[in-house]
Amino acid sequence: MQKDDCLFCKIAKGDIPSKKVYEDEEVIAFKDINPAAPVHLLIIPKQHYDSLAVMGKNEEPLLGKMLALAPVLAKEAGANNGFRVVINTGHDGGQEVNHIHIHVLGGPRPWTKL
Ligand code: ADP
Repeated sequence: MQKDDCLFCKIAKGDIPSKKVYEDEEVIAFKDINPAAPVHLLIIPKQHYDSLAVMGKNEEPLLGKMLALAPVLAKEAGANNGFRVVINTGHDGGQEVNHIHIHVLGGPRPWTKL
């Protein structure tokens, strides 16, 4: 199910353009519009979930699939020396877009303060 006013649902449907790097029936991945590293991808489910906080046992296969895509897509994007996976969750987690997404950040450092 998708949410009408959700930016990432619109990207998933193709109503808003994105630089897609992967797509299957459940998941898409695309380049972050404001990259925080030389490689910065977002992996999202096509189905709307507000955040990781509303996902549970039923979503284990979907979450596992999304996570397992991270190393594949990081490598394809040229992050050959490692990468970081981040899931900002909820207000205090710094989540700005309320559709679960996995950040995949990589490429030659320096690019992070953490
Ligand atoms: P934060 O902005 O603090 O990282 P999120 O974890 O919610 O919060 O991340 C939202 C991400 O979505 C940001 O990295 C932002 O650059 C990215 N973004 C916003 N709009 C678009 C878009 N139209 N296409 C691609 N990426 C986008």
